Amino acid sequence: MKAAPRNIRSMSDEELETWLSESGEPRFRARQIQEWLWGKNVSDFESMSNLPAGLRDKLKREFVIRHLTVEKTAFSRDGTIKSAYRLLDGKIIEGVLIPTPQRITACISSQAGCSLNCAFCATAALKMMRNLGADEIYDQVVLARNQALEILRRPLTNVVFMGMGEPLLNYKNVLRALSLLQARFGLAMGAHRFTLSTAGITKMILRLAEDGVPCKLAVSLHSAIPEKRTRLMPINESNPLKDLRSALIYYTSKIGRPVTLEYLMLKNVNDQMEDAHALLKFAKSFPCKINLIEYNTVPSMPFEPSPSEQIDTFQQFLKKHGLIATLRKSRGKDIEAACGQLAGQLLPESVQHKSLPVH
Ligand code: SF4
Repeated sequence: MKAAPRNIRSMSDEELETWLSESGEPRFRARQIQEWLWGKNVSDFESMSNLPAGLRDKLKREFVIRHLTVEKTAFSRDGTIKSAYRLLDGKIIEGVLIPTPQRITACISSQAGCSLNCAFCATAALKMMRNLGADEIYDQVVLARNQALEILRRPLTNVVFMGMGEPLLNYKNVLRALSLLQARFGLAMGAHRFTLSTAGITKMILRLAEDGVPCKLAVSLHSAIPEKRTRLMPINESNPLKDLRSALIYYTSKIGRPVTLEYLMLKNVNDQMEDAHALLKFAKSFPCKINLIEYNTVPSMPFEPSPSEQIDTFQQFLKKHGLIATLRKSRGKDIEAACGQLAGQLLPESVQHKSLPVH
């Protein structure tokens, strides 16, 4: 039985070059094909007009070109846009486009579901389904870029890996996606536009430093008190705070850039003065800035948002001791697009939706 044609966008550069040589074609055709596949995002081989007809026929016989599609889109009153994307195997993931006066940020997913079980996160309830391919990660950015241009009439400026999944547990595909997004034959976006957000996989933070991966790094901290952090983020058991701190000291010294510590403000859980003191001690060890985040109530979760006076006291304490601490206002609450609310269910029928092409 003949094998099903292969998805050409899941091949590495070396695999494509090898296939070309074995097919009697010059290797320089690889770059031309990549420009069509990534920069121009075509969905058929016939469009590759600078390739000889014979090569286009060979490609058609051996491969298919597949793209992610937008299943539904919901629009928040505050301008945030949440999209449900259908993956190549039919699974659904979610991503969010967040406009502010200065920038438009796409929050994208790196896995379908997640294995880490953070207590405050709706994605955790989905369990881990699979890693996304580099092409599936790339497509989310293309779709977000198209939404930004077509709906908001402004270009996409930033990409954060803060949607579903732990990007450092899908390291190879995330790095491949980053390199395609930054490549001249891809979207040619600058490295400073990308932020990887990790729950704190220490081994992989060290690897990021060793590999000199061109992007910014954010760490979901949420508590600097060991027992408390383990309750909120069970990953803290195998990747304890003291190891995380050492990894971040190493990372910042090697890369020469500060990291961002994300800190969700949960009423009477991590918003007291003992929490602020622990956070100060942790954060003083390496160059960083702290992002305090308003919590959005998720009906099935036992958490409440910290009162604004409490957040203010917490923030002022950190600032008084020399730390950079900003407050991130919650966005897209009405469409469940805010932090920790991506649960991978199809968006409700009641929301306004429309489909967008991938290219
Ligand atoms: S917060 Fe991030 S790492 Fe934790 S369960 Fe949710 S998606 Fe996974």
